[in-house]
Amino acid sequence: MGETTLEINLAALKNNFSLLREKTNNNTMMLAVVKAFAYGSDAVQIAQQLVALGVDYFAVAYVSEGVALRKAGIQTPILVLHPQPINFNMILAHNLEPSLYSFKTLVEFAEIAEANRQKNVPVHIKFNTGLNRLGFQEPELIKVTDVIKTYDSIRVQSVFSHLAASEDLKETAFTQAQITRFKSITKQFQNLCGYPFIKHLCNTSGVVNFPEAQFDMVRCGIGLYGYDNMQKDKSRFIPVATLKTVISQLHTVNKEETVGYNRAFKATQDLRIATLPIGHADGIGRQYGNGVGAVYLSGQKAPIVGNVCMDMIMVDVTNIECKEGDEVVLFDQENTAEDFSKAGNTIPYELLTAVSQRVKRVFVTE
Ligand SMILES: *Cc1c(COP(=O)(O)O)cnc(C)c1O
Repeated sequence: MGETTLEINLAALKNNFSLLREKTNNNTMMLAVVKAFAYGSDAVQIAQQLVALGVDYFAVAYVSEGVALRKAGIQTPILVLHPQPINFNMILAHNLEPSLYSFKTLVEFAEIAEANRQKNVPVHIKFNTGLNRLGFQEPELIKVTDVIKTYDSIRVQSVFSHLAASEDLKETAFTQAQITRFKSITKQFQNLCGYPFIKHLCNTSGVVNFPEAQFDMVRCGIGLYGYDNMQKDKSRFIPVATLKTVISQLHTVNKEETVGYNRAFKATQDLRIATLPIGHADGIGRQYGNGVGAVYLSGQKAPIVGNVCMDMIMVDVTNIECKEGDEVVLFDQENTAEDFSKAGNTIPYELLTAVSQRVKRVFVTE
């Protein structure tokens, strides 16, 4: 290995895909969310693998992410969840499908499609059912369908919404209310629209906790990458990403000496400290410094000492047998990104997507 590496396990991806398929009905379509470099891994490689596994749809957040998949030869339909109007022409040029969530985005997209002499461009209409982030409101329904009907440049491919707290069983009543509202919206929309379209609501935790709310398609992100937001021992998802590095240098630090910037760590006894080539510019945020985060050397835990630097961290290996060049794990299938992120008061979503593009990606198949 010899350097900081994000190892991406394609067998784990396959396991997680199968597990999500197992939890969904045979006729439910599977949309894989591959935004943010497939949750910090590698969008193209992950998408290619998912195509081979039989995925039905992809979603990305922004247009540029969809363009990258098209340029890599991915032909599966791609929903762009949060397209910016300035990029609407690129949606048409690359055969992407926009989420339209407001009258501004709806009219602007339909007009651009019309100006390009397009007919029946598939679009996805997003309704807000309680997350209060993006989407039309239920009372706007009639006006939305009226506007859509004035354009033959677009055709409704799907109507969808997003759950606010599907992973939180304390919020079950709220989620049930979102499901009920979504049913009502899609039923009315169906009557007004006059032709069939795909309905979809669930993210990963929705699939796990509310299998009755699958509708025609589910949108899975974090589950594919091995996390399901539930207690780990209940989970059969396998983490796809392992973040590893190596020991650059070992130091003896004497009692009373300090380590790192701002002398944030002061030794209360003689210690052996390892310096590792990974820092906040690689995705290990400063909140993990000063003992909050830890790394693993052949399974033994070594806490981070002092502040996280841009390109390095120092860890306490006083009681661990090791030498320069040895492998160090930040997170893997045993010591997971879930555990690591929890220590830093965050979630795997943030930790995984923070792994920066300068970290080398390698792919393993077992
Ligand atoms: C990111 C995202 C998802 C995927 O959610 P997971 O919890 O990762 O499964 C689904 N739908 C929308 C609208 C999203 O933005």
